[in-house]
Amino acid sequence: MRFGVPQMTERIIPIAEARYPTRPPVIPADAAPASGLLLDTRGRRLHDLRLSVTDRCNFRCTYCMPKSVFGTDYAFLPQTSLLSFEELTRIARIFVAHGVEKIRLTGGEPLLRRGIETLIGMLAELRTPQGVPVDLTLTTNATLLARKAKALRKAGLHRITVSLDAIDDAIFRQMNDVDFPVADVLEGIDAAAAEGLLPVKVNMVVRRGVNDSQILPMAKHFRGTGHILRFIEFMDVGASNGWKMDEVLPSGDVIQRINAVFPLAPIDPNYGGEVAERWRYQDGAGEVGVISSVTRPFCAECTRARVSTEGRLYTCLFATEGHDLRTLLRGNYSDDQISAAIANLWNQRSDRYSEIRSDATAGLRRIEMSYIGG
Ligand code: SF4
Repeated sequence: MRFGVPQMTERIIPIAEARYPTRPPVIPADAAPASGLLLDTRGRRLHDLRLSVTDRCNFRCTYCMPKSVFGTDYAFLPQTSLLSFEELTRIARIFVAHGVEKIRLTGGEPLLRRGIETLIGMLAELRTPQGVPVDLTLTTNATLLARKAKALRKAGLHRITVSLDAIDDAIFRQMNDVDFPVADVLEGIDAAAAEGLLPVKVNMVVRRGVNDSQILPMAKHFRGTGHILRFIEFMDVGASNGWKMDEVLPSGDVIQRINAVFPLAPIDPNYGGEVAERWRYQDGAGEVGVISSVTRPFCAECTRARVSTEGRLYTCLFATEGHDLRTLLRGNYSDDQISAAIANLWNQRSDRYSEIRSDATAGLRRIEMSYIGG
């Protein structure tokens, strides 16, 4: 750079890419072929893959993508950085051979990725080593869901999770910080249900003093609908949301509040490693869940790997460093070599952030949830 003007020969590294440290993974020479069962240092198998397909979102939720950081001049990743649908499918196929049975598409807001239906169609072709279709789901803020539900279902999506932090329109608009109405999200949920993207799960992040007044109104609204409402403890994800412990309402309190009005009973998880703790209404009006990363860590059963939209592997939501798979995907490396690199990384995995969360971890430069998906 001379005189402040970039020379044509100089490659400008987009800020977003340089934001998070990463390095290409090691490719072990003598790796065994994928066996469909990969364990980490704590005996946790690789079962769930979260694929981020964009770092962009049309919301500015204050606990995830606050405007103060993600303002109009924020440098999002250029299109050329993003993994193509072919690259996303190739990486997913390699993970499925290692035992992944569930793929969740995330973002940012995944429905903003143009042609997402095409990607879903490609992923819907994947089969586990036992020949079973991979469980394909997606998390969305539902701004585009009413319009896209039919095409998503037709492309092969099985289920959907919708983020909705309040049923009160004013509180919801305050939390998404782009003045988006509740009614449009509810319309999206209805459209998804009508197309058979069931069960619809509804995620509400609870921030004490901001929207905890909405716990009972949300429970009242979704009781008897068949949709599964889950309450998520406010988490210290990333380094931008100003997280404070006194803004965390423990899941135990959430359950107590609901139980006082609508008696609840605990139910068993659907499978080991399931994130949400499940409760049913004793009067048969359905199910609710709580996700308690802060007060009831579930790291001991965490089976999730995350790949960012430009191909970085993270083995924990609260990671500070990733592993650059894109260099391998775009380099002259075979599937077996990439597979060996992933196996080697997972075998060495020991993440347990929620178990060690403390003042000492407060200053860590964790990756942003908007970049890696929840
Ligand atoms: S903190 Fe990390 S290791 Fe623990 S459950 Fe969350 S993603 Fe898994």
